[in-house]
Amino acid sequence: MSVRTRFAPSPTGRLHLGNVRAAAFNWLFSKSSDGVFILRIEDTDIERNVDEGEASILEDLRWLGLDWDEGPDVDGPHGPYRQSGRSELYASKVDGLVESGGAYPCFCTAEEGQEDSSLKEVTHQYSGACRGLDPDERNARLNEEEPHVIRFSVPQNHPEVTIQDEVFGSISFPINDIDDFVICRTDGRVTYNFGVVVDDIDMEITHVIRGVGHLSNTPKQVLLFDALGANRPVFAHLPTVLGPDGRKLSKREGATSIQEMKAQGYPADAVLNYVSLLGWSHPEEKEILSNEELAASMSLDRVGRSDCQLDPDKFRWVSQQHLAQQNLQELVSHVRPFIDRDRFPDTGDNLSAVIDTLRTRLSTYKDINDHLGLLFPEDKVHAELFRKEVGVDPEVNRTLIAVREKLQALERWEEGGIGTAIREAGTSAGVKGAELFHPVRRVLIGSEKGPDLGKILVGLGMGEGIRRIDQAIGE
Ligand code: GLU
Repeated sequence: MSVRTRFAPSPTGRLHLGNVRAAAFNWLFSKSSDGVFILRIEDTDIERNVDEGEASILEDLRWLGLDWDEGPDVDGPHGPYRQSGRSELYASKVDGLVESGGAYPCFCTAEEGQEDSSLKEVTHQYSGACRGLDPDERNARLNEEEPHVIRFSVPQNHPEVTIQDEVFGSISFPINDIDDFVICRTDGRVTYNFGVVVDDIDMEITHVIRGVGHLSNTPKQVLLFDALGANRPVFAHLPTVLGPDGRKLSKREGATSIQEMKAQGYPADAVLNYVSLLGWSHPEEKEILSNEELAASMSLDRVGRSDCQLDPDKFRWVSQQHLAQQNLQELVSHVRPFIDRDRFPDTGDNLSAVIDTLRTRLSTYKDINDHLGLLFPEDKVHAELFRKEVGVDPEVNRTLIAVREKLQALERWEEGGIGTAIREAGTSAGVKGAELFHPVRRVLIGSEKGPDLGKILVGLGMGEGIRRIDQAIGE
């Protein structure tokens, strides 16, 4: 049987690093097994849905490259893929269960349902009052359209319900701890546990991979799988993701939202790489992995149980490694829109060379703005005055003149040739090492430290490079 996984977000807020991890694992696991990945929108909790919630989820998943084979906007044999469009199916499953005795209408008000402490041992919270209702009375009340919910009749034939989880192992829950829980509300809407099981059955989901927060729902869900006559899927619950402060992440966590990551200029593949390491490790402990490598190596047996904490420094490091591997043209196309044109209106006529010069300093595309000042000082007047001061020293002046001459004679403006030209200029001016490189670097970028001179000059381009040296020469 081929693998079918699903990501089932509720459109109640933006995706963040914590909740997108479930999407990533499901997607990667389906890819690793040549399976199918389904996106299902769980939008029945009308009060909690937010405007544009679904659209933002789709946008974020697409940006991350987590494409789905079936989903709200991709037709498939098990649609519709929004729970709000599936009420008829739910209603028929509720009816079926009621008919078979697996569920029953309950007319108790919320308070009545929970107050009978004498029955607590059997049913924990709900008194069970309507479970054994006389069929005639039940029918009469139904005929009078008395408001009611539908409760699942938790089977009492086993003292406990045992679930097998790929991550957390075999876990047993005493059956007495499980209430005859509501599966359908007074207004006819089904509850989360019921809808999710009906959908997972109907969509032939083979693996349910989700956050450990749902582990406590799983005994109820497996009972429903059994009652509906379906095979239980494989369950794999992923460990908790904590924020950098060690506290639980919430949906309102703006700083870790995918939208924010995108705005900060993190590459999508770095985000996917980073979230994949939240609870999972590569068999050879590799940490920098492309989407393909992740998909090829993802397996549930390497998912751990311990909580994982977001680590912004590690995230930046992962991102930096991804940027380092990107080919230059791709990097340039990503970085270009992030350049702050108010601060850097002119970055010369060879942006590729500029970015190539600065690329090792970048952890995100947006970081470019922290480094462009190296080549293009924002305070031009100051930079120009400063250059003049450098050339006042006659020895430095001589060096700069020699450098200018050698550079002007170059036929090709490339790193190696530029380096050689500068060293030759040093020989003719009688200086080398720091005495040669420091003044030239100060003239070019206002600092003795910084990228290699060849890189700086390629970044600036021949015209701008020579212009800056010219400006410093006191003639
Ligand atoms: N809609 C649920 C959530 O967003 C999905 C839970 C599940 O994967 O079963 O948490």
